[in-house]
Amino acid sequence: MLIIGSHVSYGKEGILSSVKEALSYNANTFMFYTGAPTNTIRKEIDLDIVKKAKELMDENNININNIICHAPYIVNLANKTDMDKWNFSIDFIKNELHRCDILGIDKLVLHPGNAVKISKEEGLNNIIEALNIILSDNSKCMILLETMAGKGSECGSTIEEITSLVNGTKNQDRIGICLDTCHLNDAGYDMTSFDDFLDKLTTKIDITKIKCIHLNDSKNDLDSHKDRHANLGKGTIGFATLLNIAYNERLKDIPKILETPYIGESDDSKERLYPPYKYEINMLKNKKYNPDYLDEIRKEYSK
Ligand code: FE
Ligand code: FE
Ligand code: ZN
Repeated sequence: MLIIGSHVSYGKEGILSSVKEALSYNANTFMFYTGAPTNTIRKEIDLDIVKKAKELMDENNININNIICHAPYIVNLANKTDMDKWNFSIDFIKNELHRCDILGIDKLVLHPGNAVKISKEEGLNNIIEALNIILSDNSKCMILLETMAGKGSECGSTIEEITSLVNGTKNQDRIGICLDTCHLNDAGYDMTSFDDFLDKLTTKIDITKIKCIHLNDSKNDLDSHKDRHANLGKGTIGFATLLNIAYNERLKDIPKILETPYIGESDDSKERLYPPYKYEINMLKNKKYNPDYLDEIRKEYSK
């Protein structure tokens, strides 16, 4: 069975809100941030809510081992020019892993980092050093490094970079990767030959290191180094290719997470109002593309 979900919000009731939102999309997994993705302000976790969330997951056959937490993207392990900031990032991720332990979540996705004003090599070394500090802590949750689009000074946008990070980490039990199809496309990997990509990747790391897929179409061309996600079938990768990846035999047991954009009132409206996930999940489950789905979403949600 396809393990499919989307990014959901960590609402007023924390992870209980996330479960409810995921269920409203007919998802059997989901991904959340423990607060705003753009800041590091985090609330205490309410254990009573965690218990209720777990009950709701059990009732609906959501396996907690398929749920993904995503670290905020403003932490940066690549840059040591400001040691205070680097240490803050390390401490934040340590705490985030402990929060995941409390929630019962065992996978945290992390953007490796940005090598701002330093060489890529230096940035990669700093990330490995930070990961080794973080993972020597007594938490349980593992870190999944996400493949990046290679925008600006982003680290981890090539097979060589991402695998050198994984292979440089001492605690191999707690390091893995998350493949983002939009990022891979923008980084120059042609998703129409996804199996060739997997073949190349697995010459450097074991296939079991892949623990999550971010399934997104891309607004930009192959090798554009941009990172703008598009709705399924509305970008340069296309529905058929994404469907193939979703059902790839070698990755059939790992969760696929949609991070596609919300839908505006019209194609060019700036305000993004309606979640596309119920429709995108439905198309993936049925293995059939509905070219009119954006209009159907507008119709349903604007009522
Ligand atoms: Fe991400
Ligand atoms: Fe992603
Ligand atoms: Zn992205």
